[in-house]
Amino acid sequence: MTTVVKKFGGSSVGSIERIQRVADRVIADRKNNARIVVVVSAMGDTTDELVSMAGQISESPDPREYDALISTGENISAALLSMTLISKGQPAISLSGMQAGVMTDGRHVKAKILDVKPQRIEKELDEGKVVIVTGFQGINTKDFNITTIGRGGSDTSAVVLAAALNQSECEIYTDVDGVYTTDPRMEKGARKLTEISYDEMLELASLGAKVLHPRAVEVAKENGIELHVRSSFESSEGTRVKEASSMEVNKPVTGIALKKDEAKLSIIHIPDQPGVAGKVFSTLADAGVNVDMIVQSTEQDGSNTITFTVSKDEYADASKVTNEVATALKAAKVDGDTTIAKVSIVGVGMISKPGIAARMFNCLGKNGINIQLITTSEIKVSCAIDESQGELAVQVLHAEFELDRE
Ligand code: ADP
Ligand code: ASP
Ligand code: MG
Repeated sequence: MTTVVKKFGGSSVGSIERIQRVADRVIADRKNNARIVVVVSAMGDTTDELVSMAGQISESPDPREYDALISTGENISAALLSMTLISKGQPAISLSGMQAGVMTDGRHVKAKILDVKPQRIEKELDEGKVVIVTGFQGINTKDFNITTIGRGGSDTSAVVLAAALNQSECEIYTDVDGVYTTDPRMEKGARKLTEISYDEMLELASLGAKVLHPRAVEVAKENGIELHVRSSFESSEGTRVKEASSMEVNKPVTGIALKKDEAKLSIIHIPDQPGVAGKVFSTLADAGVNVDMIVQSTEQDGSNTITFTVSKDEYADASKVTNEVATALKAAKVDGDTTIAKVSIVGVGMISKPGIAARMFNCLGKNGINIQLITTSEIKVSCAIDESQGELAVQVLHAEFELDRE
């Protein structure tokens, strides 16, 4: 049975007037689809405001209570949308993550959805209701505490529900009308893509393109669910995120992403011995720090330098742990820098075309942008640069790879 799953993001439900518009759109769609599940984010900046309130109480608030707090924004928008639908004569019901059967592991703030038990959703749909589910939240399987699944996670909630309801498509409504070659707010010449492969979208999302939550793309790929990213405010066709096979690749680069809020740590003069890197990075992993780019210099006088990046919000923890492990391993010192950005080019087309990385480096160099670290995979090249030059880097690379042209 077809059940349409639609996710509306924060700005799409950012005011009562916008919620009314979402409700009208859902009602119009009922003419084509009897069964509709709507996943909502919190209104506008609500989650940021909740995060800020917690920050006024403690630098490291109790994780259980933190999740109990920051998950509440979604309850508000879900209840308001359901109420609006009912007032317009459309039967509807709002369900929290718990009521919708969204089960996660026990990690607060970045929980992973393990399973969805969709019986309640199915029952309400069978009764002819539109079901509104709060994105971003679930409960852990062990003691039913409320968990959240990472900032921007409502996209993932929607895709996971689409999978649990055996659907092959999920609609993501947002404040842009699709996925662009880069953030259209940063580069005026950014072009909307009609379609993009899961792998490219996953790289772009992981590398900073906020339009989709990376885990949402991963779950979509695993379950063969096509994502349709489109505008909440107009009815134009958006971007289809799907398997690559039918697509013809004629450009080496499909898109560019920028991740601000990165930080860099360097362990200077660490002894060049087997097991040292293993010790450093396993200590960081045990502390729950996600390390991104890693570079080790060549050995000089029996020691070398290990440099790596982390996101800025993990910098304080990372710095503490790194200093401890550096002292234990008799390194000279640890240097830190919290003004780093990462710019990345992504494209399956670069697999078959040599020289793409060199073109990127030359372009950055010509524009006075110094490269601090480099990482590559088959379909992406990333450079750590100074944060102040992030937007410039996106703009010059967009022009270099002619992404403004068909
Ligand atoms: P929502 O609240 O609907 O989830 P987000 O703010 O999380 O919306 O994501 C949409 C935003 O993503 C856009 O407003 C845009 O600025 C940004 N963005 C970043 N990269 C891209 C891209 N490549 N294509 C489209 N939008 C992008
Ligand atoms: N409201 C949550 C956030 O702001 C989840 C989401 O918007 O997807 O991160
Ligand atoms: Mg989002």
